[in-house]
Amino acid sequence: MTDPILSVKSLSKRYGDTVAVDDVSFDIENGEFFSFLGPSGCGKTTTLRMIAGFEKPTSGRIEMGGEDLTRVPPHIRDVSMVFQKFALFPNKTVGENVGFGLKMDRVPKDKRRKRIAEYLELVDMAGFENRDPTSLSGGQQQRVALARALITEPSILLLDEPLSSLDLKLRKNMRFELKRIQDELNTTFIYVTHDQDEALSMSDRILLLNEGQQEQIGSPQELYSRPVSQFAADFIGDTNIFHGRVAGTNGNVVDVEVDELATTLTDVRNIINAGEGDRVAVSIRPENIGLSDANLGRDVEGRIDSVTFYGNSTRLLVEINGEEVLVEIGGRAETVSLDQNESVYLGLDTEQAALLEA
Ligand code: ATP
Repeated sequence: MTDPILSVKSLSKRYGDTVAVDDVSFDIENGEFFSFLGPSGCGKTTTLRMIAGFEKPTSGRIEMGGEDLTRVPPHIRDVSMVFQKFALFPNKTVGENVGFGLKMDRVPKDKRRKRIAEYLELVDMAGFENRDPTSLSGGQQQRVALARALITEPSILLLDEPLSSLDLKLRKNMRFELKRIQDELNTTFIYVTHDQDEALSMSDRILLLNEGQQEQIGSPQELYSRPVSQFAADFIGDTNIFHGRVAGTNGNVVDVEVDELATTLTDVRNIINAGEGDRVAVSIRPENIGLSDANLGRDVEGRIDSVTFYGNSTRLLVEINGEEVLVEIGGRAETVSLDQNESVYLGLDTEQAALLEA
């Protein structure tokens, strides 16, 4: 493995009594698309602003290319930032906005003009040099802001919820665009978002934060299928969390007596090293619960409470012993014909379940 481009070591930030960031450590590889994900107030922006140099850490270190950044002022750091609100200069043209960093670096005018055209082309805004930024749509303004941040060729681009003021359709579109631009330039992107879909669809790796602390770091697939806590299981995607007691262990797997289902789930992977008798929780995603109209042996009987059609899937709430279980059935709509109050059997795919601390 090569040396990381950025190393964050035991980083903390306090504002009076508020601990905004609490002992966070991670490495980012060159060329990674790395996201900070978590609910409002979990410390994403504060962490990003410390990397940019706009905030001073209370303790801990940030190293870039092996060098300590503590005393390096923001404008000397080899990073650029794109903000949530379009921070374009309203009294300059699009071209002047994009070329601003090069002008500060005293790059000659003709060279500048060429680079501006190149970077406008990169963000799919070729020919917009002379436009007034206030005449552009929100999505176009954010493309210009991106070109302006990238033109100085920073080693790391910091993006603070850059799509959050766009409408849903545009936001989804821009996800592909951002990923394409990042692939094309191979610049390291650090992306702040509270939107799990955004983080899952774009990132190589995600740092999940909760109340200033790091909850989990991993690929989108790891976070989705191997959550390490109830918070992680619940924050990323939808899930059912059951509670129970370990009834028996067998090598890497355990049997769990589940309170809510009044049944024993067998062969759940024991990633938390639980022992017999321990209280635990089990997370099972709605798509890992199957339906049948006959009892196939290990199934649990329930009653359909509601059926909601989502086009490419149908979601059911099934009541079992007074608890609601969320079930998702994929596939073509015409194959799903289920009615409220109908009795069904649920088969839970325990191979896909995650065992969690109680
Ligand atoms: P959001 O998604 O809402 O922007 P966030 O995860 O980016 O949230 P931060 O903005 O990093 O969270 O804030 C973390 C915590 O630190 C919050 O409790 C916030 O109120 C507090 N905080 C942030 N900046 C300051 C400040 N300048 N002074 C005092 N408290 C602050």
